[in-house]
Amino acid sequence: MDLIDGTQLQQARSEPCPGTLYIVGTPIGNLGDLSPRAKSILKNVSLIACEDTRRSGQLLKVIGSQIPLLSYHKYNLKSRLEQLLEVLEHNGSIALISDAGLPGINDPGEELVNAARLKNYEVICIPGPCAATTALVISGLPSQRFCFEGFLPKKPSTRQKRLKDIAQEERTTIIYESPHQLVSLLKDLSSLCGKERPIQIARELTKRYEESMLTTVEKATEYFRINKPKGEFTLILGGNRDVSNENKISESEALNRLNILINKGEKSNIAAKKIANETGYEKKWLYSKLHKQLDK
Ligand code: SAM
Repeated sequence: MDLIDGTQLQQARSEPCPGTLYIVGTPIGNLGDLSPRAKSILKNVSLIACEDTRRSGQLLKVIGSQIPLLSYHKYNLKSRLEQLLEVLEHNGSIALISDAGLPGINDPGEELVNAARLKNYEVICIPGPCAATTALVISGLPSQRFCFEGFLPKKPSTRQKRLKDIAQEERTTIIYESPHQLVSLLKDLSSLCGKERPIQIARELTKRYEESMLTTVEKATEYFRINKPKGEFTLILGGNRDVSNENKISESEALNRLNILINKGEKSNIAAKKIANETGYEKKWLYSKLHKQLDK
């Protein structure tokens, strides 16, 4: 199989390799998203560890894999470790999959990867769909820096503390939520983040009835109060802009800093970018002010 590494085609190594743990991403709704490499791994490893053997059995049936399945879920994470490591020790290979998406992202994975690494077995990811990043990249909200919260804690006091932190967070935040808790989460976000905070609600990603709406927390709350939430949801919450504005310097000070940089010999577009990053003013705005100065 060939793979592209940006500039050239490289010959991939033959897989699966003995003594290797493969973390395999599987579809979050659309079977077409299972990559040829993932299929090949799932048809050739010694063992597949999965959350639910019945559910994963259906996937294996579709791709014609007859590899044995072993349950690996949140209730047997620890007790299964020895058994799984033994497979690697005997030069077998394991594929870890979850019910959907990338193992390790709000799904079992971390403990097994850690245990395999401690014993120096190779761990390789066969990348695949993940609801978090899929929802993020279609939101149009800043994605250069973001944070992932997954499901919020259930315990009321811990949950409230987490919600407060999220409300203060400057970066875009990704949250998973079940349909029956969605309205209550939106109400909480509304009271802590303000009504106008942008939010994207992505529903049933990659599936036939996929939908995503970019709106405000208040409008989303109203919408789902009337329209009962159904399906799987991922929320992308815009960051808190007030925090970044709190220590904001004045416009004239920002322009002053810009002029100083330019006088030192920095190119105007690079200087505008630097000052934008430093002060939170938009590069475009700084640049236009600069040109107005030059025109005078
Ligand atoms: N490991 C998975 C991943 O990589 O996306 C996430 C597993 S987590 C247990 C399941 C949650 O992910 C769902 O409750 C929902 O919040 C989100 N999710 C999964 N599939 C989705 C989809 N097709 N559309 C929107 N959200 C989805």
